[in-house]
Amino acid sequence: MEGSTIILDGKALSENIRQKIKEEIQSYIAKGLRQPCLAVVLVGDDPPSVVYVRNKRKACENVGIKSLLYHLPYNTNLSELLELIAELNAKEDVDGILVQLPLPKHIPMEDVILAISPKKDVDGFHPENMGRLLGRLEGGFIPCTPLGIDLLLKHYQIDLKGKDVVIVGAGFIVGRPLSALMLWRDATVSVCHIHTKDIKKYTLEADILISATGVPHLIKEDMVKEGAVVVDVGISKVGDKILGDVDFEAVKNKAYAITPVPGGVGPMTVSALLLNTLQAYRRNLGKEHQP
Ligand code: NAD
Repeated sequence: MEGSTIILDGKALSENIRQKIKEEIQSYIAKGLRQPCLAVVLVGDDPPSVVYVRNKRKACENVGIKSLLYHLPYNTNLSELLELIAELNAKEDVDGILVQLPLPKHIPMEDVILAISPKKDVDGFHPENMGRLLGRLEGGFIPCTPLGIDLLLKHYQIDLKGKDVVIVGAGFIVGRPLSALMLWRDATVSVCHIHTKDIKKYTLEADILISATGVPHLIKEDMVKEGAVVVDVGISKVGDKILGDVDFEAVKNKAYAITPVPGGVGPMTVSALLLNTLQAYRRNLGKEHQP
């Protein structure tokens, strides 16, 4: 199998997607419309969050999305943060709002997510958007990592209908919304997590195995079915190396297709954020241009 494994190149696909987004935005600007605008809220200085925010803002800038940074001190309290979100909700020319997670421990994430207008919730975490995803209702926002994975699989013509999709990791940001999206695509979905008795029993059955735990090299070669598609969401910093959840070098020989880390799901997540922001802008413009 070695040599013939397809590498699911999220970086290359992202470049195509971002070029298309850029051209669409340029066509709006040429018609005299304003730029799309994403407000990014960062509370504190958690080092990975600072890097993620920097990368997301740079990606926005590169395609012509204006990004406003609201960098608040760590000791900001809930009511101060809710006040800022209310201001951003009310601003006509802010299309999307992203509050970088995780928040400091003293700020309850649920209250913050609930405060963001579902129409500006480009991360897709508001219960209205999560509910739309579960209900297969168009018109919401799908969380960025699940959307990025869906676009990557679609690009490589990996059909999901009737397939056994096994997701390892049931986190709020990836595993749970991804399970709903895979169900929307008519896959048969199993979700494993830290309390699953025998993970291997499930992973060995997977036509498509997606791991999102943050446990470096959790998925070993003997846990993967020959010819499976393997998607690695995990990002762990071990020393000065970035490792995924999957033991890539060993698993790649068994897989039909596999994502690299980095260069797989990571860039697709950022591209999905840009797509959601563009979508929020289109909907907002529709509203702005009503008589
Ligand atoms: P989370 O902490 O919310 O969820 C982790 C999940 O993994 C939980 O359901 C937990 O039960 C499960 N888990 C933990 N250890 C396990 C084990 N040994 N066996 C089975 N299940 C186990 O995390 P998250 O926010 O969903 O993120 C997961 C990983 O994905 C992290 O490494 C994060 O950095 C990464 N991530 C990557 C991207 C990207 O764009 N590539 C985006 C978001 C998150």
